[in-house]
Amino acid sequence: MKLNPKYLLPIFLFALAACNNKKEMNNSTNNKELIFPKGEKITNNNFTGDAYLQMLIAADSINLTTVGNVTFEPGARTKWHSHPGGQILLVIDGVGYYQEQGQPKRILRKGDPIKCPPNVSHWHGASPDTAFVQVAVTNNEKGTVIWLEEVTDAVYNSLNQ
Ligand code: MN
Repeated sequence: MKLNPKYLLPIFLFALAACNNKKEMNNSTNNKELIFPKGEKITNNNFTGDAYLQMLIAADSINLTTVGNVTFEPGARTKWHSHPGGQILLVIDGVGYYQEQGQPKRILRKGDPIKCPPNVSHWHGASPDTAFVQVAVTNNEKGTVIWLEEVTDAVYNSLNQ
């Protein structure tokens, strides 16, 4: 089949638009069907970039464990922090990072479970190009999260080992 050259530009533009659209869908959690709602934008200063929280289980007088679904847009992350009772992270979607103080940054993908020991400084968040969704299960029986300093761009962008 011989293609008439006058169709080449429209076909090229259509393909380009399709690629851009796909990139948008992969990078952002907007319009994506996920297990839990995206929740509300986090407005405190314990995060860098845009992150969202949907609290799933609140603490009560019997069980102090909290469960929250956190969505990080590309580049967003927590500050360094620690949990007196430790924390479990379950990766629901996307590609993100987890790093404990003094350890290499780890790449996290959908389905990865992380057990963060009590009182260990760490941070978690999205990779630069892809959003990241985690369910955080936090034991608050020994106290709630202790927030520390911001994760600098140098640390965030450090090479993975
Ligand atoms: Mn944490």
